[in-house]
Amino acid sequence: MGESRATHLAEPSHLAIAQSLVAGAERIAVLTGAGISTDSGIPDFRGPDGVWTKDPEAEKLSTISYYVSDPQVRKRSWKRYTEGLIWSNKSPNDGHKALVELERQGKLHTLITQNIDGLHEEAGTSPELLVEIHGTTKRTRCLSCGQELPMSHTLERVRQGEEDPACLSCGGILKSATVSFGQNLVPQDIMRSEQAAMNCDLFLAVGTSLQVYPVAQCVPLAHTAGTEIIIINAEPTPFDSIAAALLRGSISDVLPKVVGWQPPQL
Ligand code: NAD
Repeated sequence: MGESRATHLAEPSHLAIAQSLVAGAERIAVLTGAGISTDSGIPDFRGPDGVWTKDPEAEKLSTISYYVSDPQVRKRSWKRYTEGLIWSNKSPNDGHKALVELERQGKLHTLITQNIDGLHEEAGTSPELLVEIHGTTKRTRCLSCGQELPMSHTLERVRQGEEDPACLSCGGILKSATVSFGQNLVPQDIMRSEQAAMNCDLFLAVGTSLQVYPVAQCVPLAHTAGTEIIIINAEPTPFDSIAAALLRGSISDVLPKVVGWQPPQL
């Protein structure tokens, strides 16, 4: 993509640019990835301490063909939930809260997240502004009849001894209400994300390696529509060259500054 528009600038200049872009914007679309939740203690997938970087086998748990065909994969998956390895006990951090502040300022157009941890809603982002493009681990869904229940309901059954609980309605296979590899994304969610990218007046990509499509496409879509892009991510992304501001610091520290919000001192 050629040399970044932003690389010749020192980081403080990038912060000032990002602050002034946010201050002047009225309809901000935000795309978040796993990086916004690492400061809540949830590892990302592809960062240096990522789940897949450390344990490539873990990818199987997120692949629908393995999940459907192998009861052992399902048992391992439910066990990870009950052992708290899949984040039931994690809380939103100042990065999530900064986006609630952006909504409070009346500037948040849409918050598109690749995350499945439910922390944006838990922080206080309104569900109607949120597109959870890969679903959520806060609920389970039956792969046959589609019935959804709170995750806590299903985990209680696992704790009571059902290693691979079946749907109470139809006996089908239960899974978290997430979109695994091999499952289709919800077309309305993709459409909403793309519409937000084309209709916003500023686009923020936060804590995502921008390697997962089609949602990564929102960045060039916004750029083509003439919208400025801010990227906040510890590592380079394929779209750094089209960003007006590029911030590499830790999200829970940088994002509050970008939106002009001072987290309360503990
Ligand atoms: P990713 O793992 O591909 O990339 C995360 C990026 O965030 C990395 O480039 C990393 O350098 C950066 N990062 C991590 N912590 C950071 C911090 N504190 N400050 C600044 N940057 C930081 O994540 P992705 O692009 O979201 O894609 C992975 C897929 O995995 C997603 O589709 C998502 O569904 C899923 N996932 C979700 C969660 C979650 O819900 N919290 C966690 C892991 C994976």
